[in-house]
Amino acid sequence: MKVKFQNHILTGLVAISLLTGCSKNPVTGKKEIIFMSKEKEIALGAESHPGIVATMGIYDDKSLNAFINEKGKAMANISHRPDLPYQFFIVDSPVVNAFAVPGGYVYFTRGIMAHFNNEAEFAGVLGHEIGHITARHSARQQTSQIFGQVGLLAGMVLSETVRGLADQTQQALGLLLLSYSREHETESDKIGVEYSSKIGYDAHQMADFFGTLKKISDKSGQSIPTFQSTHPDPGGRQSKVEKWATEYQTAHPAKYNVNRDTYLRKIDGIIYGTDPKQGFVENNVFYHPTLRFQLPVPSGWQYENSPAQFQMAAKDGKSMMLFMLAPGKSLEEAAQTVVKNYSLQVSENNKTTINGNPAIVMISTQAAQTQTGQPAAATANSIQVATWLIQYGGSIYAIHGIAQASNFGGSVGQFKSVAEGFKSVSDPNIINRQPDRIRIKTVQRDGSLRDALRDSNQSDKQMDDLAIINGMSLSDKVTKGMLIKTLSK
Ligand SMILES: [Zn+2]
Repeated sequence: MKVKFQNHILTGLVAISLLTGCSKNPVTGKKEIIFMSKEKEIALGAESHPGIVATMGIYDDKSLNAFINEKGKAMANISHRPDLPYQFFIVDSPVVNAFAVPGGYVYFTRGIMAHFNNEAEFAGVLGHEIGHITARHSARQQTSQIFGQVGLLAGMVLSETVRGLADQTQQALGLLLLSYSREHETESDKIGVEYSSKIGYDAHQMADFFGTLKKISDKSGQSIPTFQSTHPDPGGRQSKVEKWATEYQTAHPAKYNVNRDTYLRKIDGIIYGTDPKQGFVENNVFYHPTLRFQLPVPSGWQYENSPAQFQMAAKDGKSMMLFMLAPGKSLEEAAQTVVKNYSLQVSENNKTTINGNPAIVMISTQAAQTQTGQPAAATANSIQVATWLIQYGGSIYAIHGIAQASNFGGSVGQFKSVAEGFKSVSDPNIINRQPDRIRIKTVQRDGSLRDALRDSNQSDKQMDDLAIINGMSLSDKVTKGMLIKTLSK
């Protein structure tokens, strides 16, 4: 969860599919039906941008931001569509990803910036994303997966309706569900080779980065599941990009840059992994150091923290809980909005206090819609919701416990103990928790990457991650004077 959360509803924006005529594709030169005018594309990007900023946040690093804008604009100039108002941003997410929105908006996560090992790798991905824009790839919206942050838990929950309720809170992130066909991905890879070469970079490095992506997805399993779906099959793409890079350089002999050290110096100090100030779980407690609260996580439950909400679910998928900021200036106003937004029929509504904080507790049923849009009668399959609205630190928080009516009775005790565990946190060890940062170190002696990392006091349990971050294997040779990435607070 982020401190500032605005609910922007973006769903539908990307679904725009007005046929506006036939035109030549700027990249392929083929005649095709275009789905959006240039003006519509630009408007779409401009409308989407505030929602992306609100849900993910911008990673504040002026020199890195200046770098991506400089390279982005250079590449835009040599692209097939230099006339678009391109803008480039680093978003505050640990996930390794990059994405583009029609109209010229291109986003890199801080996670991907931390994983690049030279400017050429960055340029390849930049070219790939600009390629989606210039080749006018019509993005499809993917409803089932997002960045590994949402949907994982909702997907475990058996009931469609429970999932629906969870998804409603995720609509602001809808735009991030963009995915492209495999054909379009391949086309963008090819454009990435061309564009990055044209601004002077060695596109073989782009191929190498696919190797890094493959290692990340192999290792992480669940934690970065969607890079494969939004950017499928890094292995197969690697060999194709390798081939295209060689072809390009053979046809256009020149000096192609890698710029490893200059890139590494630029990312020295970048945050790596979760940033504790956005909330973290430790010993079955979710802590939010910035908002100064804590909340118990039932033992054995799975959880996901995203900028918009913290969600957790029982392993059997029969009950889940959502925790988020609630709209409204008073508890009563928040209660009304929640009831309206989720179509709840309230059966109990009581004032209470939770660890000294004023609160409202409600028990309700979610009105299922019939075909005609009328509320259906409650059944054992109806969704029951226990909601706690808690006023704390100038904000109102909502905790929802959700289960099917048939399981609600068995779950409500658990929901209650979680909600009643909401309290302030003042432990300096929690409040002042610092994130890991990438620290660039100079190798002191010839040896393996593992030796160099050990010399820099890196812990054994981080070795595998460090190898991936460095784009190497631990047994790879490093030489005195070489720069490597290490991690420290
Ligand atoms: Zn792509």
